[in-house]
Amino acid sequence: MKTYPKEEIKIGWQPEKCTHSANCVKGLSAVFKPKDQPWIHPENASKQAIIDQVAKCPSGALTIVQ
Ligand code: SF4
Repeated sequence: MKTYPKEEIKIGWQPEKCTHSANCVKGLSAVFKPKDQPWIHPENASKQAIIDQVAKCPSGALTIVQ
């Protein structure tokens, strides 16, 4: 799992689980930019907005790590 820090939490990313639904990209495009490397930009949204969007990932590829 790769992790991306945001304040006291981290966004966890497990690429092998991603089903490419693009929910994250459509829901929070400032943070989730699949053409970038790295592709997650936690600085571009509030912690709560990120938590809410991660909760909508249908595959479990995105998680919040405390
Ligand atoms: S919402 Fe989850 S499954 Fe969909 S593209 Fe993003 S990481 Fe992958």
